[in-house]
Amino acid sequence: MAQRSMIIVGAGVGGLAAGCYARMNGYDAHILEMGERLGGCCTSWRRGDYVFDGCLHNLGGTDFGSALNRMWRELGVVPQLRMGAFTEQVAVERDQGEPLILYADLDRLSARLKTLAPADADRIDRLIAGARFFAGFDMMGLALAGPAKRYAALLRMLPLALRWRSMTLGDLAKRFSHPFLRAAVPRLIYDWPEQSVLMLLYFLGRLSVGDLGWVEGGSAALSAAIGKRFAQLGGTIRYGARVRSIIVEGDRAVGVRLADGDEERADVIVSDADGRTTIFDMLGGRYASHKQRLFYSRPEDRVEMGVHLSFGVDAAFTSEPHAIVIPLDPPTEIDREVRDRLFVQIFNHDRSYAPPGKTVIKVLFGTSFNRWERLAADAAAYQAAKDRILGAVGAALERRFPGFLDAVEVADVATPITSLRFTGAGHGYEDSMSGVMSSLFLGRRRGRSLPGLADFYQVGQWAGVPGVPFVAADGRNLVKALCRKEGRPFVARWPSDAESPHPAFAALA
Ligand SMILES: Cc1cc2nc3c(=O)[nH]c(=O)nc-3n(C[C@H](O)[C@H](O)[C@H](O)COP(=O)(O)OP(=O)(O)OC[C@H]3O[C@@H](n4cnc5c(N)ncnc54)[C@H](O)[C@@H]3O)c2cc1C
Repeated sequence: MAQRSMIIVGAGVGGLAAGCYARMNGYDAHILEMGERLGGCCTSWRRGDYVFDGCLHNLGGTDFGSALNRMWRELGVVPQLRMGAFTEQVAVERDQGEPLILYADLDRLSARLKTLAPADADRIDRLIAGARFFAGFDMMGLALAGPAKRYAALLRMLPLALRWRSMTLGDLAKRFSHPFLRAAVPRLIYDWPEQSVLMLLYFLGRLSVGDLGWVEGGSAALSAAIGKRFAQLGGTIRYGARVRSIIVEGDRAVGVRLADGDEERADVIVSDADGRTTIFDMLGGRYASHKQRLFYSRPEDRVEMGVHLSFGVDAAFTSEPHAIVIPLDPPTEIDREVRDRLFVQIFNHDRSYAPPGKTVIKVLFGTSFNRWERLAADAAAYQAAKDRILGAVGAALERRFPGFLDAVEVADVATPITSLRFTGAGHGYEDSMSGVMSSLFLGRRRGRSLPGLADFYQVGQWAGVPGVPFVAADGRNLVKALCRKEGRPFVARWPSDAESPHPAFAALA
């Protein structure tokens, strides 16, 4: 069979993974990336001697026995990058008294919770039992499974899903009698009270077996490793190549037109770019389904984790957990919201973010896209808003870590407008546990293909669900589906020394 060609719009993890598997399966794969670097949302940036990470807190597939770990191997992440497990997920602090530390060791966690709140022992036991179920249930790995395995897994999980189905962490907290547990439980997963209890159980279970850990070098290193694998497989990336439109002839996608007027053609066109831009700008909305029109007509204003404040600090923070929630007393107005706490990441688990003896500290919070969009229309107002936030958060961190402000060497604020500029997507993303579960168990997705348009596919978080492993699995699954359609076996292989580096590798390294 003659080699088929594939153009992929966007070098996010979804696009890169699609490219790698396309190359493994004989496609001539070429990525067009509007920016100057790969990774999309899964990125980091350098400020002085420090690396500020814009994405990964927990990575699915750091457990070496998990299905996702195999995929990371295929994509060249393992063994190139070291992976590590967290011994705890977060410590929720309070004004007085010991913090609540969410230990990865379930026995230790159970003992700690029961010492803190003996009257809540029954509820704690139920929670730990749910977590133990997930320790042996590689739910995220189902992203790579076929329908039979997925349905069997669904049956196995059904009793647990029915028990906790629509309960949020906020709801769960109300069931505890101990006042600090009631206050702390909603904060346990990224300080996000609307998260499902199932997500908490999943995290606890998987953390206990070393999954949902970290990868050395963080987000940019992970993306670069996949980019390197793509180049070694013979794939090519053209940077600074913003795709304006997809060329369609007779209801068949045949190529793309770039902002600079260039045209490139291929047998198959794949978009990893954000869904609204792809469907309504690049394709003029001609092939949008009713469901898609509805979904994209109501962009989420709320962006969870929309503001990133990163500090490069000349101090080691060795005795701190890698994530803490600190109370703000009195509550403080930051970014137009009165906040009574801050979610703080301390990058002390992986020393590649900062020079020896120094540390990156990051604060993340939810915000409004529309407000930042209005602010961005006035450069001075935008900068002033960022400075105000930096001042307020810096002062709060100084109270928690005396001497902090004097030790700060460099600081940086990223907003939803920063994301918009670098990835094309700035709005919030509906990220519900039910969405993740219906994608994993039932294979339901927002849409890979568009009705009436041949040879065009979407990949990544706008086609499925967000999450670095999910979008990578999506790239794999797309190529698998294409192979099935063409009646040939799907090939997924690990890097071997036999593969000589592609010339493009030198440019990427
Ligand atoms: C703050 C934050 C924290 C997160 N934390 C985690 C975490 O802890 N664990 C986890 O697993 N996931 C996490 N995620 C989610 C994860 O980062 C994303 O779901 C994933 O990286 C999305 O990848 P993607 O390839 O689908 O899309 P993107 O990363 O958005 O990539 C799209 C690419 O397309 C390019 N592009 C767009 N338009 C065009 C165009 N017109 N022409 C050419 N190129 C174009 C963009 O520049 C970009 O490179 C987090 C996300 C955020 C924002």
